Amino acid sequence: MKPILRDWLAELDRQDLLRHIHRQVSPINELAAVGKKLEPAYGAIFEQVEGSDIPVVTGLVTSRDSIAHSMGMTYPELMDRFTYALNNLTPCRIVEGKGLAIKENILVGDQVDLGLLPACVHHEKDGGRYLTAALCITKDPATGIRNVAIHRHEVRDRNHLGALLLPRHTNQLFVQAEAAGRPLEIALAIGVHPSLLLASQATTQLGVDEFEIGGTLLGEPVELAKCETVDIEVPVESEIILEGKILPNIREDEGPFGEYPRTYGPKAPRHVIEITAVTYRSRPVYHTIIPATMEHLLLGAISREATMMQLLRQATPNVKNVHITPASGCRYHAVIQLDQKHEGEAKNAMFAAFASSTEIKHVVAVDPDIDIYDPQDVEWAIANRVQAAKDVFIISNAMGNKLDPSSRNGASDKMGIDATIPMTEDRERFQKIRITGFDAIDLKDYLD
Ligand code: MN
Repeated sequence: MKPILRDWLAELDRQDLLRHIHRQVSPINELAAVGKKLEPAYGAIFEQVEGSDIPVVTGLVTSRDSIAHSMGMTYPELMDRFTYALNNLTPCRIVEGKGLAIKENILVGDQVDLGLLPACVHHEKDGGRYLTAALCITKDPATGIRNVAIHRHEVRDRNHLGALLLPRHTNQLFVQAEAAGRPLEIALAIGVHPSLLLASQATTQLGVDEFEIGGTLLGEPVELAKCETVDIEVPVESEIILEGKILPNIREDEGPFGEYPRTYGPKAPRHVIEITAVTYRSRPVYHTIIPATMEHLLLGAISREATMMQLLRQATPNVKNVHITPASGCRYHAVIQLDQKHEGEAKNAMFAAFASSTEIKHVVAVDPDIDIYDPQDVEWAIANRVQAAKDVFIISNAMGNKLDPSSRNGASDKMGIDATIPMTEDRERFQKIRITGFDAIDLKDYLD
């Protein structure tokens, strides 16, 4: 299938999962407040946003099932396909730019004005208006291989954005460019299909084009077209494209910004992007991701779970499933479900979980009788199957995430909790109580 945002919006409408807001709203806090009240039950499209002619959509996906459905799959199918896609890339198809919708409007040089975008202020202490749902596309100058990621971008003036580049691939490419005294060309694609947002979040090594993962998710190559002012290709079905370059040897204050942990990332001197062109479809739709909503958290969780699952399977064949929990921003806490066959196997599995992402802080391992999506059930396992002196281990001062307010400049402790039934114990003592015939009861038969 082709990754077309408008097709997905139409499908959300068919399922009555998208609320159309006709009343004019301010992009300063009001839009985020309404969107946040509606999620995760509904996404929203704001038809009239003060100061802009462009409608704003938020909450494109609000559950694991809806992300999978956007690609015509069930959630278990998506997990399998995503894991497969990490090692089975589908090269992109470059198409001629002439006549494409994304080239219907082209603004270059002095015509560029970021003020035309309905960029939102989401949270109380945010430093300004932010783009939160732009795919950031760059290229490795040495290999020409694309990299796709999502960063936060603060609107600074008519043609400049601030950016937070965490120490990952975009930053690595910029560090190389800056060392050579050059800017790093970038393109930002706004208003893209959920499959491309999801693909951008894949945890891979540098040198893998995340659009090629997207191609495997979609079952056909992602179509890209060349930019006007930079040597980068962008998805032809995007609504809005910003072209530009990350400037070398320049840092300006960016932030604060309300982030996925539901705390603010602080203001600090950060990268500056100069915008050289804006292209967009006629009557475009702008997408904003309200930070820390399920849309934000789940897009990050699925790729992290798939990557973790790969490593877990290497550590032990007895791993059943993994869940990186929303309360931890879908970053810090993992619950691993395994059918333990050997003493200590749960601990080995937890090592693999920590190795899968620097962000993982606390891991709980549980047996197959625990529902890893139910925090009450996981806590039950910790309450009834853990003795801290033998089941908990702590590694101090490993690498974590700077956005965790308890980290020490990014250094973080790691804790593993083995909440599986010990192999040496009588398993009978650990069984949950259940009422005979409970599952067969239909209350309708008993209530008037
Ligand atoms: Mn990458």
